[in-house]
Amino acid sequence: MTIRILGAGVMGLAIATELSTRGHAVELVDPQPAPGPHACSWWAGGMLAPYCERESAEEPVERHGLAAIDWWHRHTGCVSHTGTLVLTLSRDRGELTRFARRSRGHQAVDGAAIAALEPDLGGRFTTGLFYPDEAHLSPRAALSELRRRLVARGVAFHLTPPAPTPELSIDARGLAARDALPDLRGVRGEMLVLRCPEVSLSRPVRLLHPRIPLYVVPRGDGIFMLGATMIESDRRGVVTARSLLELLSAAYALHPAFGEAEVLETGADARPAFPDNLPRLRRRGATLFANGLYRHGFLLSPAVATMAADHLETGILPEFMDEVSQ
Ligand SMILES: Cc1cc2nc3c(=O)[nH]c(=O)nc-3n(C[C@H](O)[C@H](O)[C@H](O)COP(=O)(O)OP(=O)(O)OC[C@H]3O[C@@H](n4cnc5c(N)ncnc54)[C@H](O)[C@@H]3O)c2cc1C
Repeated sequence: MTIRILGAGVMGLAIATELSTRGHAVELVDPQPAPGPHACSWWAGGMLAPYCERESAEEPVERHGLAAIDWWHRHTGCVSHTGTLVLTLSRDRGELTRFARRSRGHQAVDGAAIAALEPDLGGRFTTGLFYPDEAHLSPRAALSELRRRLVARGVAFHLTPPAPTPELSIDARGLAARDALPDLRGVRGEMLVLRCPEVSLSRPVRLLHPRIPLYVVPRGDGIFMLGATMIESDRRGVVTARSLLELLSAAYALHPAFGEAEVLETGADARPAFPDNLPRLRRRGATLFANGLYRHGFLLSPAVATMAADHLETGILPEFMDEVSQ
């Protein structure tokens, strides 16, 4: 039996990878021929930051997110395991105390330790938090690599569903699945990509701020991804002037050289999210829905994929499954 997966974003590709690694025959259907800007996954920062995310997320995000780092190591060659640095401007020191209280897995760092970790930030910050066990990846490289490895294993990718209808389908269409999942909503995220060869960073840096938190993810060769807004809206498309202004101001506060950066790209998409911002598996007859990755697409897709595969193999009802019907 070949299992059909609808959607080749990070959710569909992760499930296809998990199932095919376990020896199951799978095929993917996506109207787009390759990973690209049509999918929310294209715009992600790629932070694998279970401890930092726990600051504002439920416990399962940390637990399953920790296991995700190993999953991405096993299935791609593009994980950087260099931790996360969390900083704040001196006037926002209270934010750092609050962040430390609400997360684990960190070490307090002073100005000298910050300079040792990130020499280009030396002398600019006197206190911060370092999360040594966190990681990051380039989402675009990771999506392409999952796809390439699946193709090498003989997995077919179709632009339209081929006949006949399969015995089992997995719906991983992201926000497009709202036609079947009415409690799915969009949470808009805006990002930009800068080229700034004057700054070199080895790891994602988060700059806490009561209103405009920023993260900067280094992509190598002087390229940085800056993100990301969190707006209750399913509007996709271009970045607003306000968000651009706020993200760039925060980057400038992190390092003034970002003021001279070239803006290579701006983009926005709507993260698929359920009301509690945790993912869901739903079984309706011959269809298994996998969705609601919210801001944790790369962090939680390995757990959802593993649970989906376990469910299909054993019939167990995994943690993220909240519906089984005929
Ligand atoms: C700015 C921004 C930053 C982010 N940063 C991070 C981060 O640092 N770490 C992290 O873990 N997550 C991050 N995320 C969240 C992450 O991007 C999402 O959770 C994730 O991309 C959702 O993946 P998905 O596969 O469910 O949906 P998508 O990536 O949208 O994929 C859905 C796929 O379904 C296809 N499709 C649509 N209709 C059909 C159909 N009828 N039949 C078949 N296929 C169809 C689409 O073409 C698409 O390829 C970020 C998101 C944004 C917007």
